[in-house]
Amino acid sequence: MRTMLLVDMDAFFASVEQRRNPALRGRPIGVIGSDHRTVITTASYEARRYGVKTGMNIYEAKRLCPGLVLVIGDNDRYIHTSEALKDLYLRYTPEVEIYSVDEAFLDITGSCHLFGGPLEVGRRIKEEVKGLFGINATVGIGPNRVVAKLAAELSKPDGLRWIKAEEVEGVLADLPTEMLWGVGRRVSERLRAIGITRCGELGRAPAGLLRARFGIVGERLKALGQGREPEARDRCGEGVRSIGHSTTFPRDLCSPAEMEGWILRLSEMVGSRARRHGLGGRTVSVVVRYRSFETFSRRKGMGQATNDTHRIFHTAMDILNSAGLKEPVRLLGVVISGIEPVSGQVPIFEEQRRRAALLEAVDGVNRRHGPFTLTWAPCLKRLRKGVIAPAWRPSGVRRSL
Ligand SMILES: [Mg+2]
Repeated sequence: MRTMLLVDMDAFFASVEQRRNPALRGRPIGVIGSDHRTVITTASYEARRYGVKTGMNIYEAKRLCPGLVLVIGDNDRYIHTSEALKDLYLRYTPEVEIYSVDEAFLDITGSCHLFGGPLEVGRRIKEEVKGLFGINATVGIGPNRVVAKLAAELSKPDGLRWIKAEEVEGVLADLPTEMLWGVGRRVSERLRAIGITRCGELGRAPAGLLRARFGIVGERLKALGQGREPEARDRCGEGVRSIGHSTTFPRDLCSPAEMEGWILRLSEMVGSRARRHGLGGRTVSVVVRYRSFETFSRRKGMGQATNDTHRIFHTAMDILNSAGLKEPVRLLGVVISGIEPVSGQVPIFEEQRRRAALLEAVDGVNRRHGPFTLTWAPCLKRLRKGVIAPAWRPSGVRRSL
């Protein structure tokens, strides 16, 4: 039996800004990506009380909360804090998985007795995070990551909750399905259509029914409904149609050359995610949104399915170079589709073998120490000035749900 602990910062970007500038403390603030952008990235808890939310337009936010203070975010600061937090976690266990810029899973199975048990580890971490960084954190503990995540979800902000293995069934019984990690509004609506609204019902639903309705994902859903962690890396790839990432630039860009660093970064995000799941894509698409919000995409085949960052990158650059951009660009996305399993294929040529070994080594380091710990130099040029969405996460595949 394992003990997993999730540490999740409350209103992370806003809390870091309030810590840095005492004048912002206790005030409703909204962090935005840059002075050219108009969407709230994170709202402080003071602002959330007025209904200000992530993703909200600043005009709407100002209408709800006229005293809202807008602060331009600084990724360097958040990444720096995130790295310092990781050092703190490592004092409690060597098994730390950085899940996003403000969330980390700690496997404390073998170490929690040294600190007086799971709750005591949680209490200490919260206290240290508050003392060192001035940030409230929520800690959720459970027999696996799914339950740890749920425990945190149910107790934030500033929460601490341990759901023990024997309590899981009782906690889940009457809980709405959308509370589950990975079950969004659309999936819960589709579940409702077959009469399932509670996690308990989902856990008891016949596997055949869920499978008929959701394909391979049906089995994952059933596992989630029982508070189990679905077979972590299902390798078959069935049900996955595309893997993609997009980014809005801090300022609009005009030429493909200016976008090169971003395209490489997006290609690496897509490639590493695909590699993590043993999947590759046969087609690359680039999504372009102009300043005027006109949006289009172009695609190009790659012959064989691949998840190699550089093949995705070069194909994406080819697409962009031949797209004939007519206006400054505000958003770019890179997507691979034509998804199929590629794991277990041993490359024939020495050069390919070396590339595969390199990618594997880079992925291994980044899995342990956080995304982009090791990366290609051109990625570093502009990336730090970009915006990390709070929902940004290093892993996870978009499914056809
Ligand atoms: Mg958080």
